[in-house]
Amino acid sequence: MKRSLRQWRVWLLLALALALLGAVMGFGLLNERERIEASELERLNAQTRVIEDNLTRQLTAINFGLQSIQSALPRWQASPQGRLEGQQTLRNLEATMPSVRALAVLDAQGTVTHASRDDLLGRNFFGREYVQEPRKALNPTLLYLSPPFKSVFNDYLLNLTRVMLDDRGRFAGVVSAAIDPSDMALVLNSARYSDDIQAILLHSDGKIFLSAPVLDAAAEQELLAPNAPLGRHLRNQHMAGHAAGAVLFGTDQRLNVMRSVAPEALRMDKHLEVVLTRAREPLLTGWQQDVLMQTGAYLVLVLVSLFGLLLYQGQRTQKIVAAKRLKLATEASGVGIWEFDLLDKSYVWDDNMFALFGLSPKSTSLRNDEWTKLLPAKDLQRMRDATRATIQQDRPFDMTFQIRRADGQVRFMHNRAALYSDEHGVPRRLIGATEDVTQRMAQESELRIAAAAFESNESMLVTNAQAEILRVNQAFTQLFGLTAAEVVGRNPGLLKSGRHEADFYKAMWLDLTERHSWQGEIWNLGKDGVEFPCWLCITAVSDEAGLVTHYVATYTDITLRKAAEDEVKRLAFFDPLTNLPNRRLLSDRLQQAVAKAKREHGRLALIFVDLDKFKPVNDRHGHAAGDQLLQAVAHRLRTCVRESDTVARVGGDEFVVLLASISQAQDAMHVAQKMHAALRVEFQLPVGKNVQISSSAGIALYPDHGLDEAALWHHADVAMYAAKAAGRDQYLVYTPALDHPVP
Ligand code: GH3
Ligand code: MG
Repeated sequence: MKRSLRQWRVWLLLALALALLGAVMGFGLLNERERIEASELERLNAQTRVIEDNLTRQLTAINFGLQSIQSALPRWQASPQGRLEGQQTLRNLEATMPSVRALAVLDAQGTVTHASRDDLLGRNFFGREYVQEPRKALNPTLLYLSPPFKSVFNDYLLNLTRVMLDDRGRFAGVVSAAIDPSDMALVLNSARYSDDIQAILLHSDGKIFLSAPVLDAAAEQELLAPNAPLGRHLRNQHMAGHAAGAVLFGTDQRLNVMRSVAPEALRMDKHLEVVLTRAREPLLTGWQQDVLMQTGAYLVLVLVSLFGLLLYQGQRTQKIVAAKRLKLATEASGVGIWEFDLLDKSYVWDDNMFALFGLSPKSTSLRNDEWTKLLPAKDLQRMRDATRATIQQDRPFDMTFQIRRADGQVRFMHNRAALYSDEHGVPRRLIGATEDVTQRMAQESELRIAAAAFESNESMLVTNAQAEILRVNQAFTQLFGLTAAEVVGRNPGLLKSGRHEADFYKAMWLDLTERHSWQGEIWNLGKDGVEFPCWLCITAVSDEAGLVTHYVATYTDITLRKAAEDEVKRLAFFDPLTNLPNRRLLSDRLQQAVAKAKREHGRLALIFVDLDKFKPVNDRHGHAAGDQLLQAVAHRLRTCVRESDTVARVGGDEFVVLLASISQAQDAMHVAQKMHAALRVEFQLPVGKNVQISSSAGIALYPDHGLDEAALWHHADVAMYAAKAAGRDQYLVYTPALDHPVP
């Protein structure tokens, strides 16, 4: 699917919104983690302060105890009584300080002179650091804190010590308190509000005094490595510090708080360090679940919105495409779409509607019903009736009306509409489609005219371009005796007579292809097998592209016309009385015969026959009898010659016989003899009269008596007159001697 710019913009917006939401959620989560860590650090910090307070109180109490021992010591050394009192005081003091294991006074040699426990008396601890350190420093104002060491009680202790000097400022011994780790362990443990908190108490020299839970040697080593955070803290002598995310030991990232316990008032040479540390991981489990849930929710949101947008755009695109398709279809079809609101009586027209009515969408107010003025009053009334019927009876609205457009054109519109009702069944609007059917109506009427014309008296036949008969009309059936069922699908060749050569039809088709029409006389064959002449007109019908789609043929029976023509021909070339060829036809045939004889070196004879004394027959028996005699003579003459010979009547009682082909002069004599004899036989005329007659004849031969028609004609005539002159009732062959008759 191709996306439009608009669609891409929506995608970009969605991506931005999602990214923003993601950033806000991520920021919130990070913030939350920081808040968790910060509050945890704060809590650990508070705990270290509790420990510090506790330890400070204890250290202050011990220091106070040590100072009071110092001041009481001269009294205890003065007498055995004092010595006993000192022992008792030390025992009492120890009991009041739960964190103190033992209190002891050591002389300059390191020997215990007074102690809260009797088993320590007389023992020498000169080598101990808590003796050596003060002995070297010789500062009686300081409270010395020794590093942890393994004690005679076989556990780790550390000592708080104050130094004593004699009158001359020399080392005179120490007063020392051994700190019991078990009580300190209680303090440390009380600060561990969660099991995974590691608490450590160590000496500022870097020796671990206590750890809860107890650390193994490897962990201790890692913890105190010079580059480890704790090592740095000690080296830099910071009083307090915290580090989030640092690895103190092992592999876990941890939240760490470190605090020095070194109360100002006590003036300690070294101090204690309290370390509380907690692995970060377990702290963030809840947060990590939050992260997972929020990421999940975010991803779901992203997917849902992406799919949603995809779906929405897909449907929208489909809708747009469908709407466009519909618009195109209506535009292309030229159908106008309109809507009529039944409540406020308002119209909505699409552009096609305005175009159909020849109105401008800008300057036409549909409210004023301007368009109704284009309708004839009758059509407008019909439309109003139809509209009412549709609304009131929900009848389909389907009517054709006429409009006269502003440009004067009269158009016919076909209108269809449907009623749309709301959910309560109340009719709300009429939606309709209007189509200009002017052309269609014109075509339909043309078709009706064509159909009527097709069923005219003239025989018609329509074929397709392949000359297969599609239809024939009633007149065709009558003319050819063939029904539509018998000819449809066949070729008009079935009407062919045997009278035309193939070339005739070839020429006809050539004309049809070149000029798209042909007409002429043609002999066709009827169903009864009788050939008859037709006047055939064929017209090719072409489509807009000029391709022939149909042929229309009309047949006119010209049998009668043909007969009339024959009659005219007969009148022109034949003698009406005897039906013999007349002079014109004879001349024609004589001409052809002479030409043929010339070509073939043949021979022909021309015989002039004139009845003797015919006039008196007329006079005696009447003209009609004369006519009958002439007809009878004609008949007898024809019986004397061959079919190919011509007997013509060229004048009143004058006949000419053309023997077109004879082999010798004798043949002509023979025919003349035969005719002469035939005419001498008495005629019995239909009028009931018997007539006896004779004839005179003259013979001219080709090539003997003339080489052309005129010469032959003349010489036969000369010979015939010679016969008359010689007394009639005879026949003579021309001789040049006859040309100049003796008067
Ligand atoms: P001749 O022996 O010299 O030939 O004398 P004829 O009487 O035969 O006279 P001619 O041949 O000169 O005249 C022919 C006559 O034939 C003249 C006319 O009265 C008559 N005739 C011509 N045509 C017709 C016709 O069509 N019908 C009839 N009944 N008589 C005709
Ligand atoms: Mg005559």
